Amino acid sequence: MAITEPTILIVEDEIPIVELVSFSLKGAGWVVDAVHNTADAWTYLQNKRPQLILLDWMLPDQSGLKLLSRIRSDRNFNTLPVIMLTAKSMEEDKVAGLDQGADDYITKPFSPRELTARIKALIRRKMPEHAELAMKAGPLTVDPVSCRVSIDDEPVEIGHAEFKLLRFLIAHPERVFTRGQLLDKVWGDHAVLEERTVDVHILRLRKALGRADFLIKTVRSVGYMLSEK
Ligand code: CA
Repeated sequence: MAITEPTILIVEDEIPIVELVSFSLKGAGWVVDAVHNTADAWTYLQNKRPQLILLDWMLPDQSGLKLLSRIRSDRNFNTLPVIMLTAKSMEEDKVAGLDQGADDYITKPFSPRELTARIKALIRRKMPEHAELAMKAGPLTVDPVSCRVSIDDEPVEIGHAEFKLLRFLIAHPERVFTRGQLLDKVWGDHAVLEERTVDVHILRLRKALGRADFLIKTVRSVGYMLSEK
């Protein structure tokens, strides 16, 4: 079953930069895909959904800013985190990038360490389920780094899909998600799965959680949520 691994897409035509960035991001635990122009980036996005895009400003076919504006005007991608890479240090260019919806920008030359820190900060801000801090709800603790789940400090055996589902729900407590939303968020936008797949995994998740199963609430005719209430 396709589970979305945290993938970062880099759109950059300067190969040494692509190699440097890929090397350091892979070292930090991400899957890295690279394309070298905006047309290939757009094609990529029709098939795969990265967790974040590193988008160069100067690209051979058209500017990264044009692609950014296309991404932001598409409702499938308007919340996708984007960091602009720019050789320009002019203040007005940074403002233009942020105006078009970039979440952050980083000026070349940058250190891989700085880039990794900026990516982590942005992911923490925009997608708490991919953050590194342990998340708690009632007796339950989910550690996204070690992928461990515990109840009152006792470890719980949990499947990979159930872990991802739980990690998403605990990162967004007190919010109801439809089955369709959970398929998108946990299994990825392009997963071809039936909505009852979600019910199957919710059932397994509750079983795994044992006495903490009360945290996973069914909201009738809507979907599911994690709530301590
Ligand atoms: Ca470039």
